[in-house]
Amino acid sequence: MAEIQDESLSEPDPAEGRVAPGAAPRRHRKAHTTQRDLARYAGLFAKRTQVMRSSAMRDLMEITARPEVISLAGGLPDTSTFSPQSFARQMTKIAQESSAEALQYGPTEGFASTKECIRQVMVAEGMDPDPDDIVVTTGGQQAIDLACKALVDPGDVVIAEAPTYPGAVPVFCSYEAETVQVEMDSEGMRVDLLEETLERLAAEGRRPKLIYTVPSFQNPAGVTMSLERRRRLVEVARERELLVLEDNPYGLLRYEGDPLPTLYELDGGDYVLYLGTFSKILSPGLRLGWLCAPPPVLPKIVLGKQASDLCTSTLSQYFVDEFFAEGSWREYVDELCGVYRTRRDAMLESLERHFPPEATWSEPEGGLFLWATLPEFIDTTDLLARALRDNVAFVPGVAAFADGLTGKSSMRLNFSGSTEAEIREGIRRIGSVIAEQMALYGAITREQPSLGGDRAQARGLTPSVGSDPGGDVVPIRRREPEA
Ligand code: PMP
Repeated sequence: MAEIQDESLSEPDPAEGRVAPGAAPRRHRKAHTTQRDLARYAGLFAKRTQVMRSSAMRDLMEITARPEVISLAGGLPDTSTFSPQSFARQMTKIAQESSAEALQYGPTEGFASTKECIRQVMVAEGMDPDPDDIVVTTGGQQAIDLACKALVDPGDVVIAEAPTYPGAVPVFCSYEAETVQVEMDSEGMRVDLLEETLERLAAEGRRPKLIYTVPSFQNPAGVTMSLERRRRLVEVARERELLVLEDNPYGLLRYEGDPLPTLYELDGGDYVLYLGTFSKILSPGLRLGWLCAPPPVLPKIVLGKQASDLCTSTLSQYFVDEFFAEGSWREYVDELCGVYRTRRDAMLESLERHFPPEATWSEPEGGLFLWATLPEFIDTTDLLARALRDNVAFVPGVAAFADGLTGKSSMRLNFSGSTEAEIREGIRRIGSVIAEQMALYGAITREQPSLGGDRAQARGLTPSVGSDPGGDVVPIRRREPEA
């Protein structure tokens, strides 16, 4: 520490704009950290920082916040659909009737009244949790973090789908987990392959700490796990006494088809930890989610939460309580479903129009995303750089893989955060950037950039895995060749 103080604080360095101790603090930091800055602090960082990864969506947010950019990248719900009058009414009521309490700390587990709202949301999806099994968290994201904090030691295996929620990858990395991803198809995670993976790991004496899954309208693939697979997954967890982390932010955002039971319902809450959030059915700005865990696990989660933030925002919990007290939360969710259904359809239509016939994509029955896969010579990270020049953004597929390599010809597209017109224009722009890349490829190789061969085996079903195109993975329902 002394070394650092000597080096960085006590020696004024006008070139770098530093000031002597005791002087007024600088008002502005330099925009970029220099190599020298990094070297100065290097000895202080925890080892885990070497494997920590940034979230692709967060990285993109600065760019996509610019008004001229059409962002199909983030997972933003359309918060403009929430009535400002209703917001003002609820907040005014809180200020008038419960100001001191709403501005105070609260219990780490969350308020009983908020847990009752959570119970209502879970009942709407066929579950009936014991409120004592629930902890209210700072978003679903914290629930993933707390589950890992309680269960994962460095080097432990976490199983996830391939592709997986891009925001979970940095969590697994920061707990130094070894993330093993299991292929998906149009029925969700291939539970047969999961079993093979578990066998292989068992032969190595390894027992995964968590099987992380988003069974409904998966982020990013947009696929939903079939009932048969759900049943088998729960059986596998029971037979092998493994914990599943079911992440279900989108279950109520169904635009067609019949609801399916959650893993938590099928299991009864013994081996399945269940994660929910108000972010997509109400507002992500509230930062309010929850985790249901079996009684032996929950206290560890609560201890982890105490250490990280003491309690979830009291004000947000009061707001949810007020909103639910008005009794029309289901109507609001129905309204959202109507808006997002139309936007999903607009995106599907535009893809059909503007993407090349070699591309494939999922056709989600709900949620906020679909997953598109392009011919494998197109790298979507490079494509994004080009697309941003045309003011349109998406999430490159590699963000959904812990190896940072797989999925490089795929992309996640969001259809909830933009208007229909923006979606159509955004897809048109991406389509023309793809066409440009394909023409370039054709010119360089003097080939028609066609996949050739049997399109029933379209490559979109299996994104290339680093140097191994046949490896782990993925989506989804294939687009039928045009007549
Ligand atoms: N899990 C999944 C699958 C998600 O898509 C998201 C948000 N996009 C989260 C967790 C985290 O959401 P929040 O923290 O806003 O509840």
